[in-house]
Amino acid sequence: MGNVSSPVTALKGEEQRLVRCKEINRQQLLLRPVEVEKLVDLGHPVRAIWELVGRFNLELFYAEVESVEGVAGRPVWDPRLLISLWIYAYKEGVSSAREIARLCEYHPAYQWLSGLEVVNYHTLADFWIRHNEALDQLFIEVLGVLSHEGLITLQRVMHDGTKVKACASDKSFHRKATLQDHLRLAREQVEQMGDPESEELSQRVAKARQRALREKQQRLEEALKALEQIEASRSKASEKERARASSTDPEARVMLQAKGAYGPSYNVQISTDAKAKIIVGVGVTQAPTDAAELEPAVDRVEANLGEKPKQMVVDAGFTNQATMEAMTEKQVDLIGALPERSGVAPNRLQQRGVRPEFYPQAFEYDASADCYRCPAGKVLLYETQERQGASLRRRYRARASECRVCAFQAQCCPGTKRGRSLVRSEQTPELAAFQAKMETAEAQAIYKQRSGVAEFPNAWIKDKIGLRQFRLRGLAKVSLEALWACLTYNICQWIRLCWRPQILAQA
Ligand code: SF4
Repeated sequence: MGNVSSPVTALKGEEQRLVRCKEINRQQLLLRPVEVEKLVDLGHPVRAIWELVGRFNLELFYAEVESVEGVAGRPVWDPRLLISLWIYAYKEGVSSAREIARLCEYHPAYQWLSGLEVVNYHTLADFWIRHNEALDQLFIEVLGVLSHEGLITLQRVMHDGTKVKACASDKSFHRKATLQDHLRLAREQVEQMGDPESEELSQRVAKARQRALREKQQRLEEALKALEQIEASRSKASEKERARASSTDPEARVMLQAKGAYGPSYNVQISTDAKAKIIVGVGVTQAPTDAAELEPAVDRVEANLGEKPKQMVVDAGFTNQATMEAMTEKQVDLIGALPERSGVAPNRLQQRGVRPEFYPQAFEYDASADCYRCPAGKVLLYETQERQGASLRRRYRARASECRVCAFQAQCCPGTKRGRSLVRSEQTPELAAFQAKMETAEAQAIYKQRSGVAEFPNAWIKDKIGLRQFRLRGLAKVSLEALWACLTYNICQWIRLCWRPQILAQA
């Protein structure tokens, strides 16, 4: 029997008693045998991850290992173990190398994987970001297994984009003049840096400071380059002037988040096969909208699985003219929400001082001459056209010389030096066909499935894995983070749909 702590006096009814409790001895030393194999039960998902990762050809990971037989040096951690540790950690919502190293010290699942050894966090972090091509290949191999299990058919693929916050704050975004000031300051600081060996601080600290200053200078140079790209992508001078870039993550872009706020983000594009909600393609872009993202998504799926999806289902953010044409050319059936038709809203006209009698409906369209006639009887000729969404916007304009002398100018086009213009939105043949298709009950029934399939992996990756904000910076590195998350998601689907039923059947 163990030691007993000092009795405690307690009253039960009218009876006074001395209660005996077991003493907790924190001074003792214990040696316990640990049977590693029994740290986790047979149905534990960590076994499934280890088993599945072991099935794959990890040659690309092994190719980078420098410790080889016959050459001096210590053996390194097996890539199979490092992959399994990261996948299990992601599954549990852990995406920090330091945290995984800590968990290896006491958590049974991590201990089972590592055989009670603790993997250094530097090793884990390096492995996490180093194997770009190899991780892509692993993602494809997992898709091969899932396809073999009949979980992927590519008959119907739901596609969606989700914004994930970049590892940068709003305050890190600056205009050109501020970035140039910061860069000048950083260059001066780098030039003034002394020899770390002559510093009073420890050499390690001095070198770390110098490295931080050089990295800061490099990031500011990259931010200025990114700013040039942003400016080049904008047509209006006023928009170019307002352009800003982040000094922390120059490749991040300000995007509209799901909750309606703007913030530094990346746009993660995920294609999900409808059969078993398996992610069949993932990409990360700097595009603030989804408008041009469907065609590359189809290409990614084809590159991963060797064939194109038969049907892509998307929301209204993707359904525009260029996408419709691209899907027709690729012979992929497109199902999606109809884009909203746009024109100049009456309140915009009101703000410009246009009187209701001179709103567009007061202008008469002459189809035979393709022109409009205004309430004063003057002609508005075709001027230009542009695509907006899936509509063709044709602009017509009256002669400035006629409007200038018109008695109605103050009510029709006040303050306009050019003549009054009018926009006519037309449906393209592709939009008309798409609209006709989307009015059928079958297409509407398919579209209703979209949110349940396409938004499921997005929500899972954000809620379960916790990928609401990237830990890394730069497009290449955040793409890797997104790939690790999607790889983990697919492996979890395999565990749920294939491995666990087998284990239960054997039990
Ligand atoms: S201002 Fe120009 S467009 Fe307007 S009614 Fe007069 S002539 Fe016609």
